[in-house]
Amino acid sequence: MKEFRKVGVVGSGTMGNGIAQVFAVAGFDVVMTDVDQKFLDKGLGTIRKSLAKLVEKGKMTAQAQAEALGHIATSVALEDCAGCDIVVEAVPEDIALKKQIFSTLDQVCGPDAILTTNTSTISVTEIAAATKRPANVAGMHFMNPVPLMQLVEVVRGLASSDDTMYAVVELARKLGKTPVVVNDSPGFVSNRVLLPMINEAIFCLEQGVADKEAIDSVMKLGMNHPLGPLALADLIGLDVCLAIMNVLYRDLGDPKYRPCPLLKRMVAAGYLGRKTGRGFYDYTPK
Ligand code: NAD
Repeated sequence: MKEFRKVGVVGSGTMGNGIAQVFAVAGFDVVMTDVDQKFLDKGLGTIRKSLAKLVEKGKMTAQAQAEALGHIATSVALEDCAGCDIVVEAVPEDIALKKQIFSTLDQVCGPDAILTTNTSTISVTEIAAATKRPANVAGMHFMNPVPLMQLVEVVRGLASSDDTMYAVVELARKLGKTPVVVNDSPGFVSNRVLLPMINEAIFCLEQGVADKEAIDSVMKLGMNHPLGPLALADLIGLDVCLAIMNVLYRDLGDPKYRPCPLLKRMVAAGYLGRKTGRGFYDYTPK
């Protein structure tokens, strides 16, 4: 059974800092890397706030909070992942960037180290092919917000070994998460099912089947979804939704995945959801 002690997290943005947090809370030593100290400081700030909230709510002791923070080191050099037993990459969704990072990690990390990616849509098999250890590569797809969400989609690339899959599944359990193993395919299961549902909700809006509040109410009250699909799209970011639909459409080659024209127009207008203050709903402070 593979022992993990030290974990590398590449990228300290939305996902990376959450991933660093859950590993540190579970007692692993973490090296969180990014391209600039200012991003690392921002990521650390988010972790501090998140841990402070847990202490406030009585879900964590002040001592555990201090210990978790003590487990996190930061670096602007990817090479500092050298001593890690496993690395989770969480840089932007750009295949060339991910391949370059995996190629470097392959050179600097020990031969037994496992390299994983948090990609939402990019082929794990293709990323693994940028290394000389494709058997030691898998997807470790955390959900946002990482500290709160139970699921980790563990993605088996074409070359991922059984040992790697087993080790990653066990590791996710040690974080208190529930791992679910899926095969490498565009959008895996999570985004392959979720995004077409959101896209269909946007078609319903565009075609006047109902207004936005009605569409969201049907899915919340009728299907027990905590958020309606249009409100959820605003939370995810409409640009991200469009990018995922484009990948599903391109890679699966089925017209049922074509992005709704209204989604394209919203993105073209810069209405990206909560992050820009306007999406299907208005978030500008009143
Ligand atoms: P983000 O833009 O918030 O963060 C990415 C971070 O990577 C930034 O801090 C950036 O400075 C850093 N970075 C860029 N180039 C780097 C390099 N060469 N080395 C080290 N760091 C570098 O992005 P995110 O939302 O955290 O997404 C990261 C990954 O997680 C993507 O693959 C995305 O598809 C996936 N993902 C995102 C979500 C989500 O809801 N945001 C959910 C699941 C999976």
